[in-house]
Amino acid sequence: MRAFFTCGIVLLLAAHPAAAAAEAHYAEQRAAMLHAIDRDAIDTAGYTGRRGFDARVMAAIGAVPRHLFVPADKASRAYDNRPLPIGYGQTISQPYIVALMTDLLDLGGGDVVFELGTGSGYQAAVLSGLVAEVYTVEIVPELAALAAERLARLGYDNITAWHGDGYYGRPEKAPFDAIIVTAAASHVPPPLIAQLKPGGRMVIPVGAAFLVQQLMLIEKTAEGDILTRHILPVMFVPLTGER
Ligand code: SAH
Repeated sequence: MRAFFTCGIVLLLAAHPAAAAAEAHYAEQRAAMLHAIDRDAIDTAGYTGRRGFDARVMAAIGAVPRHLFVPADKASRAYDNRPLPIGYGQTISQPYIVALMTDLLDLGGGDVVFELGTGSGYQAAVLSGLVAEVYTVEIVPELAALAAERLARLGYDNITAWHGDGYYGRPEKAPFDAIIVTAAASHVPPPLIAQLKPGGRMVIPVGAAFLVQQLMLIEKTAEGDILTRHILPVMFVPLTGER
């Protein structure tokens, strides 16, 4: 019994430096990913009008352990600046796209944000560090359950994640300061326009499924007028559901 105990303590001590080394490795990869995003921001400035993203946005991305949001067998690729499969035919978005969409929302610390398309929960986790509250909905039940469990386990306690069809938004929590749609829609869902606060912003990829779409920035003016701007050609998984 005593030998067993001693052995357990030795193992615990031995496990610690390995875990610390893995964390340092991921931190290094995360820093490299931030540089890759900076480079992409410069390369796409002609489209976006932004040669770099807000320091708060970059810090929020630098704080999220992306390797814990991808399937375990893809953890070694988690910090590549590219999308990765997360199962059920869905993907976690490319880090540069996450940065761009987050930056376009011009978020404030008191904002309440609605996300359509939780997927892995990664985008929601990035938003969590920048705003007061995040509401995120996912239509694939297995992904919704996985993401909700993951976000709770990692301590993102200002995120409400649930299973459902995001086309209809979340009327009882509206209006939202910002809305982010991370699946390609054939049109901008009218319920989401209705749930955007005057002065609020929405980013959404609009276009045909499985083809190139246009990332659009939609602004609702203080008077309630809708302004739209095309930002960049993108490719997202399609928005599904009854509509
Ligand atoms: N934001 C995610 C990436 C999402 S991929 C991340 O950070 O990982 C787009 C997601 O939108 C997919 O998981 C897809 O199942 C979901 N989706 C598609 N149509 C939807 C709908 N009508 N309502 C809610 N989620 C939807």
